[in-house]
Amino acid sequence: MNKKGKLFIVSGPSGSGKSTVLGEVFKRRDRLYFSVSATTRAPRPGERDGVEYYFIDERRFDEMVEHDEFLEHARYAKCSYGTPRKPVEEKLNAGIDVILDIEVQGAGQVKSRMPEAVSVFIAPPSLEELERRLRSRGTESEERIALRLETAKTELREAGKYDYVVVNDDYLRAAGELLQILNNA
Ligand code: 5GP
Repeated sequence: MNKKGKLFIVSGPSGSGKSTVLGEVFKRRDRLYFSVSATTRAPRPGERDGVEYYFIDERRFDEMVEHDEFLEHARYAKCSYGTPRKPVEEKLNAGIDVILDIEVQGAGQVKSRMPEAVSVFIAPPSLEELERRLRSRGTESEERIALRLETAKTELREAGKYDYVVVNDDYLRAAGELLQILNNA
């Protein structure tokens, strides 16, 4: 009979290189669904609505919360983020593995509701390297970088709650490690 897909939670501070690692994982593995979140954050250059995120306003976000349309949701760096529940459930029921790229509060919510989910924390090699990466992105203001760095420090303290920690010293190596975790789950 149809086997259910597995749910993977991937967290990592802004600047951990998580998106690059995930991009590589999706290149190397098919039948894997990336859950597209809804956010009230403004799109960065090149980001497309419905691809990286669904870009919505606070009012629509609150409406979705009220209608219980989110599997989890959280505030992060003064914006709201949430995982639309329906597509995740549909893919899992169709036997397709799902990846949630979400921050630590949301990860905790999912883990307590679906303890079978496998959680992975992508860590930067060091805080210095994290700061360097945040700055080199060049899309964020000083104030936002400082806020993200502070948040990252708090997040790093949560790494121990995850099933696995992958250190992103080299994104190809880290992607290989993450793939192994997916394949062995
Ligand atoms: P960014 O604004 O850099 O794209 O994302 C900021 C943080 O929000 C990242 O840690 C990302 O994983 C997290 N995030 C993205 N989508 C969601 C979501 O649906 N729920 C939660 N809880 N966090 C999310």
